[in-house]
Amino acid sequence: MHPPRDTAAESSSIVAWPTLHPTTQAAYNQILWNHGLAKADVARRLGVSRTRMTTVGRELELAGLVSAGGRGAHQAFGRPGDILVAVPDRYHFLGVHVRARQLVAAVIDMENVVVWGADAIVSSLDASVLLEQCERWLAEARSSGFRVAALAICGSFEQLDDAPVGLDLHSIIGESDRIRLSERIGGPVWVEDDMVALTAFEQWPRLDDGQDSLALVSVGAQIGFGLVADRKIIVGAHRTAGRFAHVPVAPDGPLCPLGHRGCLWSVASVASILAQSGAGSLEEVAERAATDADADRILSAAARGLGAAVGHVANLVDPDKVVLTGDARQLLEGRDDEFAGGLHDVALGALPLVELADFGFTEWARAAAALGLYRTLGGDGI
Ligand SMILES: [Zn+2]
Repeated sequence: MHPPRDTAAESSSIVAWPTLHPTTQAAYNQILWNHGLAKADVARRLGVSRTRMTTVGRELELAGLVSAGGRGAHQAFGRPGDILVAVPDRYHFLGVHVRARQLVAAVIDMENVVVWGADAIVSSLDASVLLEQCERWLAEARSSGFRVAALAICGSFEQLDDAPVGLDLHSIIGESDRIRLSERIGGPVWVEDDMVALTAFEQWPRLDDGQDSLALVSVGAQIGFGLVADRKIIVGAHRTAGRFAHVPVAPDGPLCPLGHRGCLWSVASVASILAQSGAGSLEEVAERAATDADADRILSAAARGLGAAVGHVANLVDPDKVVLTGDARQLLEGRDDEFAGGLHDVALGALPLVELADFGFTEWARAAAALGLYRTLGGDGI
């Protein structure tokens, strides 16, 4: 099940996640999502007998994954000993966010809390350089006492921020590189688009709340989309799902570099907003907009375009929720009406719940780590 460890790399190797029966894994996920749960509740949620649940609970305790007895608020429910609580620091996950030559690392525990972090500038965007840095961090995390069960390396599969045009993570770290690193460290390694990682990060804690679908839109120099449908992250047949930034949203909008008039990228990407306004930053455009009609018009068109794009997503997949991140908060500041106008113009069915979320570089690394957790605990189907 788990690749044999390379003893030469023992100091930097993975601590393998235990092989659990699917019911036992499902029980553990329920306990984790609910921050502790009575055995009877787990049994009811999974449709298994109390007797079977007793065995499952014992398996989880033997694996060191849960402790019995409950604590804090959980003691209000059931008898002590009936409550199973996840041991948060039994295993950890290392995520690395690649942003051109800047790499950011984060280790999370079982409850998605960042417990370790680092960043580095690498000499070149070369697979061996990136993988060596990841291995070095894995060794550092392990020597700090973290039991890392998986590694996920994430960055744009479309265009790495601040990197030469056409350079993306997938073209730098190929499948053979990924397999080589996995063999060297003796455990799972994922190389994934950072929109998929961020989507996993948003979706994982909500799996128990009945959130079956989600769309995530990241606004920056580029615009990325992440999708969850029927509880699965959609990566696509060729791992290129979510390339929705060039959907037409404004017939009278500017031209994008691909020659589209009024596509989402042309009105709402920060790259285009800066090019249209001649400003050096989005902050500067927002400041100017108070007195400058052109800057105000550019931001209004961006907000309306973003609303229209969300409307198209709603029409296509009808998600429970749409999360807007990156520079979306700043772009939409004081422009709720324009966003809503764009959304209403396009949406034909139910309107999704729309949330704004902020992510810094550390959060992107944390999201990569969350992808590792999600895939380790959720199985290959996710
Ligand atoms: Zn375009």
